[in-house]
Amino acid sequence: MNVLIVYAHPEPKSLNGSLKNFTIEHLKNTGHDVQVSDLYAMNWKSALDASDAKTRRDDSYFDASLDSKYAFENGLQSDDIALEQRKLMWADAVIFQFPLWWFSMPAIMKGWVERVYAYGFAYGVGEHNDQHWGDRYGEGTLVGKRAMLMVTAGGWEPHYSERGINGPINDILFPIQHGILHYPGFDVLPPFVVYHTSKVNTDNFPAICNQLGQRLDDLWHTQPIAFRKQNHGDYNIPQLTLKEDIAPEVTGFAAHIVTKQ
Ligand SMILES: Cc1cc2nc3c(=O)[nH]c(=O)nc-3n(C[C@H](O)[C@H](O)[C@H](O)COP(=O)(O)OP(=O)(O)OC[C@H]3O[C@@H](n4cnc5c(N)ncnc54)[C@H](O)[C@@H]3O)c2cc1C
Repeated sequence: MNVLIVYAHPEPKSLNGSLKNFTIEHLKNTGHDVQVSDLYAMNWKSALDASDAKTRRDDSYFDASLDSKYAFENGLQSDDIALEQRKLMWADAVIFQFPLWWFSMPAIMKGWVERVYAYGFAYGVGEHNDQHWGDRYGEGTLVGKRAMLMVTAGGWEPHYSERGINGPINDILFPIQHGILHYPGFDVLPPFVVYHTSKVNTDNFPAICNQLGQRLDDLWHTQPIAFRKQNHGDYNIPQLTLKEDIAPEVTGFAAHIVTKQ
């Protein structure tokens, strides 16, 4: 299988660097092909702007969505964007690895998403009508591929529990897992999270690698998070609210995940 690792950490000798190296080696040793987009090493341009197209649609006004659509449809995207899109199409699974910075991904990775997820590639895909509101949330360009977050956090695991002060980790990661990964069609696996990073040392690092190795071995078999698909009957279209009889007692993020009866 082909695995793409999109990786954001500025220091190669960091914990993230060690975990990335372990991941590459483990995947290769188990017969997979691996590509890495090491965003800091690539000096990735994170700001989406008018220079992302080789030729502009309209020189007088930059429209982030329409300029993206025009560049994508006419083969005018900058080379770095087109290359990352080709890597995504090559991959059977994509791992997004990053330290949790201010409750989200580092800015350089957010910029990767903003620029690589072009109009026509990751959004604005498919027909919009009263039954089908575009190919998104479970359908789209990246359907059939798996994605997993690999996150390190300074906070302790209980800080991210259901009643922990930081909020539940699944809520914090929801905008990424649902909004960035499920949206263009990925099957999203439960995240691999290393908590309390200041306590990681040579004694407990091997155990973390063991757990990570297990998750990598299970990459093709792990049950994805059961996010509801937009066009499969659970939502009113075009309001895009859950139908009244679907999980009527549940609100918020949890309502968009199917729970077993
Ligand atoms: C801007 C910013 C915002 C942040 N926001 C949040 C937040 O919102 N929530 C939160 O929980 N945390 C937050 N943090 C903390 C952050 O998540 C952690 O600092 C980060 O996840 C640690 O990962 P690292 O790769 O940088 O670890 P490092 O600092 O490189 O390493 C952590 C520990 O692992 C050890 N280590 C590294 N490699 C190995 C190895 N090969 N073998 C054994 N031991 C090793 C190191 O010695 C060190 O003790 C923030 C930090 C910053 C800088």
